[in-house]
Amino acid sequence: MEILTENKILSILASVTDPEIPVLTITDLGIVRDIKFDEIEECWEISITPTYSGCPAMDMISTQIRMTLFSNGISNFRIKQQLSPAWTTDWMSDSGKEKLKKYGIAPPNNPDFGIPDSPAACPNCGSSNTSLLSEFGSTACKSLYKCEDCLEPFDYFKCH
Ligand SMILES: [Zn+2]
Repeated sequence: MEILTENKILSILASVTDPEIPVLTITDLGIVRDIKFDEIEECWEISITPTYSGCPAMDMISTQIRMTLFSNGISNFRIKQQLSPAWTTDWMSDSGKEKLKKYGIAPPNNPDFGIPDSPAACPNCGSSNTSLLSEFGSTACKSLYKCEDCLEPFDYFKCH
């Protein structure tokens, strides 16, 4: 039997996609914070941090993690939601941000102190001339923007 390691679990989790943005995996998003083995309980503890507190997708993500690990023959694990420190877009991988852009969603801008949380550029044409249409886009985790140049509406993945 293959010996289970933290890296092995991480590579399995790298196949779990975000239910809202299927092109992104949970490792692209950087929501898997920690994987450790509890020697006393002989159980893997997987810590995940929601991208958005109260995000309904998190329950789905936990379920998908369970199903994926079970289908790989792993059952001695528990999932812990770690709410602090809060998820930041810095945890997202560069390839994740790139995939998001190709999918037509503006990747999160890394807002430094004082810079508003708004998209840096339209994912269609790259224009920075964008305006907010609605605080809530197709899901609570996104807001709806419109590009003033190509006039395309697009979702913006909000920073939290
Ligand atoms: Zn545009």
